[in-house]
Amino acid sequence: MAKEIAWNSVDAGYGRTVAVEGITVRLSPGEKLGILGRNGAGKTTILRAMMGDAKVHHGTVEIDGVDVTGMPAYQRNQLGVAVVPQTRDVFRSLTVRENLIVASAERDRTKLAVKLFPRLGERMQNLGADLSGGEQQMLSIARAIMTKPDFLMLDEPLEGLSPTLAQDVMKSVRKMVEETGLGCVLVEQHVATVLDFCDRALVVQRGQMVFSGTTDELRGRPDVLESAIGLS
Ligand code: ATP
Repeated sequence: MAKEIAWNSVDAGYGRTVAVEGITVRLSPGEKLGILGRNGAGKTTILRAMMGDAKVHHGTVEIDGVDVTGMPAYQRNQLGVAVVPQTRDVFRSLTVRENLIVASAERDRTKLAVKLFPRLGERMQNLGADLSGGEQQMLSIARAIMTKPDFLMLDEPLEGLSPTLAQDVMKSVRKMVEETGLGCVLVEQHVATVLDFCDRALVVQRGQMVFSGTTDELRGRPDVLESAIGLS
């Protein structure tokens, strides 16, 4: 089991562009880290740097103390890190059951997925294309945990969901962390969700890390919440 993932002084971006600078943070299994910031602040780029989908110009990303900065994305997956991208990762022409099985044929994981997301259990024979947005998000998360990752990174999983569905999804994600002990990175624009769910938070503003600490500390920093996220 991977014991830690870490970003060490990471500058990352696309081509020659640097989208985030000086990102330093580490995460252990069971921990929940929130990444907050406005549109375009660089939240997704931090995840992409870990997965090998953004160019790391400076610094390193590590899984279990191993520098994986130059490693292809699929190998990082094998080391126990999975991501649920903002564009939900669902095969529209496959049923819910098939969507799960193509991720992994482990039956105990299918059982876990259905336990965590009972709605999926009711829709096993339905096509991905016929699911609601919320159900697609649940399936996308369920698919990501089929390969038994130690770390799961969720990119704005609540985007476009009704408040009730958003609550359902977060309840399942909480249960998932409790049952599997995985470490979770949650990219979010809603501060309340991060304060409620995460132990620690990182706030990015125009590519810079302007806060890193516990969510309790963040509660006491209205200046950060106001300038970086626009809450007052
Ligand atoms: P959002 O909340 O809108 O998803 P974000 O905080 O996740 O935003 P990023 O997606 O990390 O922000 O984007 C950071 C910067 O990098 C932005 O200026 C964006 O335009 C730029 N960027 C993102 N993806 C690419 C890409 N594939 N090629 C070039 N620039 C990109």
